[in-house]
Order: sequence, then structure tokens, then C-alpha cells
Amino acid sequence: MAACVNTLIDCLIGAAALWLLWFRIIPRVELSLAKHRSLAGHSRWSRRLARILPAYEYDAQRFFDADGAPAEIAARRQAAFAQLADLYRRRFARSAALTDAAMPYLSDLQFTARYRVPFQFSRHVREHLKGGSFVTRTHGNRIIDADGNELFDLTGSYGVNVLGHDFYKECMLRATEAGSAVGPLLGSYLPPTIENARRLCAISGLDQVSFHMSGTEAVMQAVRLARYHNRRRYLVRFCGAYHGWWGDVQPGVGNPVPAPDTLTLEDMSAASLRVLRRRRDISCVLVNPVQSMHPNRAAPGDSALLDGARRAGVDREAYGAWLKQLRAVCSERGIALIFDEVFTGFRLAPGGAQEYFGVRADLVTYGKTVAGGLPIGVLCGRAALMARFRADHPADVCFARGTFNAHPYVMAAMDAFLTRFAGEPVRALYRDLDATWNRRVAALNARLQSQGLPLRVSNLSTIWSIDYLVPSRYNWMLQYYLRAHGLALSWVGTGRLIFNLAYTTDDYEAVVERLQAAATEMQRDGWWWVAPGQSNRSVRKAITAELFQAWCSGLIGSISSPRNR
Ligand code: PMP
Repeated sequence: MAACVNTLIDCLIGAAALWLLWFRIIPRVELSLAKHRSLAGHSRWSRRLARILPAYEYDAQRFFDADGAPAEIAARRQAAFAQLADLYRRRFARSAALTDAAMPYLSDLQFTARYRVPFQFSRHVREHLKGGSFVTRTHGNRIIDADGNELFDLTGSYGVNVLGHDFYKECMLRATEAGSAVGPLLGSYLPPTIENARRLCAISGLDQVSFHMSGTEAVMQAVRLARYHNRRRYLVRFCGAYHGWWGDVQPGVGNPVPAPDTLTLEDMSAASLRVLRRRRDISCVLVNPVQSMHPNRAAPGDSALLDGARRAGVDREAYGAWLKQLRAVCSERGIALIFDEVFTGFRLAPGGAQEYFGVRADLVTYGKTVAGGLPIGVLCGRAALMARFRADHPADVCFARGTFNAHPYVMAAMDAFLTRFAGEPVRALYRDLDATWNRRVAALNARLQSQGLPLRVSNLSTIWSIDYLVPSRYNWMLQYYLRAHGLALSWVGTGRLIFNLAYTTDDYEAVVERLQAAATEMQRDGWWWVAPGQSNRSVRKAITAELFQAWCSGLIGSISSPRNR
């Protein structure tokens, strides 16, 4: 009898161990293996590290020889910087004065001004290279700033500007005409709303639509609906991908609290597919197709441009093949595949990234451009996923509203956008779009190389990123030379230049001339000098040592040049 009981206990222990191994340990190990090895792949660690990273900055001398440049080079940089600062003072005086006046009140401006360049250099740059943030109007591809300067627009209005400023001005005018008849009457619909929804269904290849006020909200709703319908908890996002600033899609730095229901997996990885295949608690997978430019890395802002390691580049076929694999696993496991096309929709192809990469999603978010220049978020989805109630359980609903959803002005502007979007002149812009931009970029890169300039442009159609071919600590300076040459960039700098599809050949050529002139000057001024043997690795090592020194001293101090000590 005792032997029987012992055998039974052994069996139970063995079964428990097997259960533990199969349902707990193996999934845990597989999850760990599916995380990208960078900090961005480990949200909690990145947040912990961000909390202890000390502030320090370079003094007026060290600013110019942070890389150990000899006195002659540092002096050349210093003189060039003074000259540039003088040009900025004269050329952007009024815009800078307006920016100064706004600064105490606008927290967003305080943030963006601070994070244009690596923090060690930021104060000196903020004090001396005040480009200003105020404009008066746009004209074609040009922005006219508060001083009357004309700059070519490479900001792309965060991606909104797919078809040129003039296109959106017309949409907005139509919106004012149609919308002003009803004013801010909300809760009922302007008739063009029907046609907007129908067209969006046709474009996305999906059944139903909901309107929101921003891309962030559209993503929130997509994830909420997926969770509601498959009753699962986890959302999967890929390392580096941006999906707006809602907490669940931003589990790392930037969000003060953890996002326990989010799994950040490695992009383009078999280990991630294994996790999706095994687990039964994954509700949805979010894909931002712009990550095809730099899988597993965040959008390339110049504030993180510490050296020359930044690299972008698209392998359309490989990324398309990855998406197909993802599609298959999601279908197999009942996971909702969400394409977040807030940025790529209407830009890569008339049918967006779904068409571009040849893969269909269950839910697709759009935003930015589709309301003809007014604020918008759109979710399109399969009917079974878009339902917000269950006929058999009336209290079990999935709530989503939003005061301003389907605002009359927004619907009227969207109607203007989608009507013109379907017309031949706009369709013609998409013909050979990729070939045109790839050819332009290839020719530019050949030109930069022949001039001995250490730059290379990567592009996903009209979205550009500048890579630097030298391990310089000053690559971020290029954004200030570009502005001096009349090229307007967004606050993230040279990591994201955004053209619109209507850029004429003349305008494009003018941009290229200016880019080359700016880079030539920057080279002449010594910013791309590098010490013999200097590498991206050695630069990072030096910065790590500085961080350690600052952390040990516990000071928000400045680091001075060895020559001044
Ligand atoms: N998803 C993606 C892919 C985006 O690029 C953005 C905005 N950059 C968002 C979501 C958030 O959109 P919004 O800023 O309108 O909230």
C-alpha cells in the first residue's frame, strides 16, 4: 500500500515537473531567446538604466575636442562654429526671438530643443545655434520662416505631407467651406463620412472603419478590439518600433510605468515566431512597416548620434518574406495581425505597406495624411474584429468613443483628400515611385562618394535616413549646416528626412546641391577629423568612461578639455 502511495506521489511530482517545464520554463526561455539583445529589447532594464544615467556636459573648449582632436583642428571647429552662430543670429533673429518667448510656456518646445543633439553638447548648441521654430507660411515645397527665409521642407510634417503643401491647403479650404455650415456639431455625421468609410475599406481591403483623433488612439482601439475578441492578454510589438505614446505600446524609456501586458520581441527572427506559435495568450501583433529600414532599432534621431554606427537600409524582399511568415503564424494561432500604417499608409503605395509588401493584415491603422492635413486616426478591420458588442451578451461591450471622432471638418477634409487621391494626377505620382527614389538616392550616394564626403543616404521610398561613414562624435553637426543651406529638418535631425511625392525634379536637384554644399563645408571645418585608430567602438568606450566618471562624482557638472585642466 505504502509503495503504491509512494509511486503515486512520484508520478504526481513527475507530472508537476513536466507541467512546469512545458508550460513555464520552456516558454520563459523561448521568450528570453526572442528578445533582441540590445537595451531596446529589454524595456525594464532600459528604464532602470535611464534613471541612473548621469547628466554632464562639455565646457566651451571640450565641446570642440571631445574626440581628442589636436589644437589646430579644435580651433578650426571653434572658428567655424562661431561663424555659423553669427549666421544663425543674423538670419534667424526673429524666429529665434519668438522661440525664446515661447520657451517658458511650451513644454514640448523645451523637450524638442533639448534633444536635437547628444546631451553633452546640447546646452552650447541651444545657446548659440538658434534656428528658431516659427514659420509664417509654406509655398510649394518651401517653408517661409518668421524671418522670411525660404527653406526646402524635408520635415514632411512628421509624415503628414505625402502630396505637397498645396494639396493639403486645398483640402483644408474645402473642410472649412463644408464644415463651417454645421460648426462643431458632434455625434451626427456629415454625409461624406459614408463615402470616406467606403473608400477606406476599399483601400485597406477590410470591412469596417472607425475614426479617431490621432494615430495613437487608432492603435489603442486596434489593440483593445483584438483583446476583446480573442480574450487574450498580451500584445506583441517589435523591438524599436514606434506606435504612438500610449503606455502599452511604449514599454521602455519614455513611459514611467511598466507595461506588463506587452511583449517586445526581436524583429525578423525565427525565435519570435516560435514564441507566437507556442503561447496561447497572445492577442495581437503590431507591425510598423517603417521598421523595414532599421529592424530592431528606434527611429534614428540625431540626439542618439554618438558616433558613426547608425545604419539604415531596406531589403524589401526579405522584409516582405518576414511579414508573410508572421501572417501565417498569426492565422494559425488566432492572433490578430495589426499593421500600424499611420506613417506608411498612402506613402509607399496607394494601398500602403499591405500593397508594398504584398501582405494583408486583420486590422490596419492610418493617420497623419488621410484627413487632408487635419488631425486624424483611422482603424480599418475585418468585421468580426471591429464589432464592439456581443449580440448574446449585451453587457459585454468594448467601449471606444472620443468627443471629436468624425468631426465635420475632418470628414470634409478627408473627403477632399480621398477624392483627389483617387484621381489620375495623384495616381500618376505613384507610378515608378520606388524606382524613381531609389535611382535618385543611388545617384546621390555615388556623387557623395566621388566627392569624398562621408555620408550615405538610405531610403524607404520617400523616407530618408543619413548614415555617416566616419566614427565622428560630431556627425549631428550636419543638421545645422543643412539649415544654414536652406534645408528644414524636423527636430529628430538627419535620421529622418521626409520628401513628398510631388517634389519636382528641380526642387529635388536644389536639395541635393544644398546637401552637398553643406557637407563639403562641414568637412572643410574639421568636424569629420578622426584620430588614427578611432572607431565607433572606441568612441563608445570613451563615452562610457565619461558616464562612469560623472556617475561616480554624482555631479551635474561639466567635463573640461584636458588642455584646460
Ligand atoms: N504609429 C505610427 C507608426 C506613427 O508613426 C505614429 C506617429 N509618428 C503614431 C502611431 C502615433 O500617431 P499620432 O502622433 O497621430 O498619435
